Amino acid sequence: MTSVQTETGILAGEQRMLIDGELQPAASGATFGVEHPANETVVGDVADGSVHDMERAVGAARRAFDETDWSRDTDFRFHCLTQLHEALQRNQERLRRILVTEVGCPISVTGSQIESPIDEVRHWAEYGRDFDYLVDTGLHDTPLGPARRKLHHEPLGVVGAITPWNVPFYLNIAETIPALMAGNTVVLKPAQLTPWSGTELGRIIAEETDIPAGVFNVVTSNANEVGAALSADPRVDMITFTGSTATGRAILAAGAATVKKNLLELGGKSAHIVLDDADLSACLPLAAMMACVMSGQSCILPSRILLPRSRYEDGLAILKASMEGFPMGDPWTPGVMQGPQISAAQRCKVFGLIEAGTDSGARLVTGGGMPENLPVGYYVQPTLLADVDPNSVVAQEEIFGPVLTVTPYDSVDEAIAIANNTIYGLSGEVSGADVERAFSVATRMRTGNVTINGKSHFGIDSPFGGTGQSGLGYRNGAPGYLEYLHIKTIGMPE
Ligand code: NAD
Repeated sequence: MTSVQTETGILAGEQRMLIDGELQPAASGATFGVEHPANETVVGDVADGSVHDMERAVGAARRAFDETDWSRDTDFRFHCLTQLHEALQRNQERLRRILVTEVGCPISVTGSQIESPIDEVRHWAEYGRDFDYLVDTGLHDTPLGPARRKLHHEPLGVVGAITPWNVPFYLNIAETIPALMAGNTVVLKPAQLTPWSGTELGRIIAEETDIPAGVFNVVTSNANEVGAALSADPRVDMITFTGSTATGRAILAAGAATVKKNLLELGGKSAHIVLDDADLSACLPLAAMMACVMSGQSCILPSRILLPRSRYEDGLAILKASMEGFPMGDPWTPGVMQGPQISAAQRCKVFGLIEAGTDSGARLVTGGGMPENLPVGYYVQPTLLADVDPNSVVAQEEIFGPVLTVTPYDSVDEAIAIANNTIYGLSGEVSGADVERAFSVATRMRTGNVTINGKSHFGIDSPFGGTGQSGLGYRNGAPGYLEYLHIKTIGMPE
């Protein structure tokens, strides 16, 4: 297909997987293509690993955990992850180009997906080096006399990491680096649409660090059954997963037979409660921007805007103007902040949900189609749906597109009830001039995290996790490190 966009920067990534310290093709030799969503062209291939390849990777990770000092040698792990941090910095621009190539994410907004995760490697290396793995809790009364108790924090074993495509390099780092620093060995299974953000990490680890063979493995595959094999393998102690709620349920079920620990970060349908004293001209342009950056392919996006009825039409007008003026286009062009959706299938899903919205009575205020000036690439116009019934499909299902739904409310209690009316509970937002009132509303939202007046809840030093069907457990902060450790309490003589 002919492209009207510049191809500047398009870069194909590493084709080979990393298994037991060797960069290698699939045992079968099979590969599959990776598409650049801005020009609808396959730009390179990657190994199409099989269940057999996955079993070899799990075997390597098991051996590396059971037979090497990796789990016990904190100083060596710090050394290796410091090396990795430096190597990632050297590879930073290559990683950025690969990210834009396989995701279609605008190059101007890649900082949080490249620089930030690279910094996180350093963070976890230092956090893990300074962590107190042995805590003496002193003497405890027991029927047989006093016992000293020590808490020994130990790695779990083999961690399987399964990642989605929306922020692939960031999530590959977020899921694997704290696990490694805590002393586990890892098998990473990246998403089909974004395999290179995983294989590049494998290549850099193999070529530029002393991380021993088998400690970190990457298996790419075009088949969901390969991720399923990882989540069911009895040699795997824990699955750390980010992705859809449907896949999260399948992973939980697959791990049940071996009572595997699961850390799940799943889908969301977050609400933004705009209170009647909010500064609409400040909070709504920001809300529109959040919906369009990354083409709405963000799990924590507050995609359901709840406006007080008294200010409803004013709010809609601000949202409409902000969305219509949003800089969308070729992701390689500096200043562009909205690129294409990642795939034809994803764009089709977004259009299907917009149509479900209008079918159920929602008013299409702007957008709803493909932009005329971008005939190639999976672009979707920023779309605003008003008068959305909170029980309708478009208000209940995750869209993962540049779409905001707006629903009016009459009382704060009603707004909170609407916000809480989904199976999800990942994130949320409250805007209002009275910050104490906004805080009180935030505490009543049944969700994992809340932003008030644009002040982000998200950061490496603060726990992040969903409630409801948005997940189990935490990333980031102290709880995010503890997820990868078992606390063994040892009772002993004084
Ligand atoms: P997905 O669930 O389709 O796929 C995620 C990963 O799971 C892929 O690597 C896929 O190959 C693998 N997989 C698929 N079926 C599997 C199975 N049966 N067993 C094991 N692995 C399997 O998700 P996606 O479409 O890649 O990503 C989008 C979803 O991710 C959205 O729902 C989004 O909200 C969610 N997400 C959540 C967060 C968060 O922090 N909560 C962050 C980013 C994305």
